[in-house]
Amino acid sequence: MYLPPTLTRLIELFSKLPSIGPRTAQRLAFHILMAPQEQAEQLSRAIIEARGRVRFCRTCNNITEDEICGICRDERRDRSIICVVEEPQDLLAIERSGGFKGVYHVLLGAISPLEGIGPDDLKMDGLLARLNGEEIKEVLIATNPNTEGETTSLYITKFLKPRGIRLTRLARGIPVGGDLESTDGATLTTAFEGRREIIIN
Ligand SMILES: [Zn+2]
Repeated sequence: MYLPPTLTRLIELFSKLPSIGPRTAQRLAFHILMAPQEQAEQLSRAIIEARGRVRFCRTCNNITEDEICGICRDERRDRSIICVVEEPQDLLAIERSGGFKGVYHVLLGAISPLEGIGPDDLKMDGLLARLNGEEIKEVLIATNPNTEGETTSLYITKFLKPRGIRLTRLARGIPVGGDLESTDGATLTTAFEGRREIIIN
């Protein structure tokens, strides 16, 4: 390869991004090279600023530039129902569907023995603190309908059941093995409306 080292490095870095293969990485790197200098600078500044400023909400772990996210600060949200999701992207998908008016708790992960992620790696402490300190009537578990999501749901259920709180799970309709992020709004809304009680023995 006769590529300049700086370009090789740019391609390498692009190829580390999710769903970017070597060819796409090369295409992106060349696009940046051919773009006006200002555009390239804007992009690099945006990356640094987003990475530097965005953090996790102290209450729910959603992404925010402030201490508390916009949803937690919104007085119109129903604080008696907490929807538990794996990642901030799941929260965004649910918000896009517009069918949920409660608040959230983001676990920032799902239990996956294969990837070495156990219950202790999930952000559960904050959820427990909220259950102790706030008037919560229902916890709606909206983890993904795949193996990791179901394992996580079962763990949360066992953990919270002794507290006598109403526990619900999203209705089917989201394809098994699929994820919330790529589910369309109408399907998500139906899944919320048809949520069911979790019954364990
Ligand atoms: Zn929040």
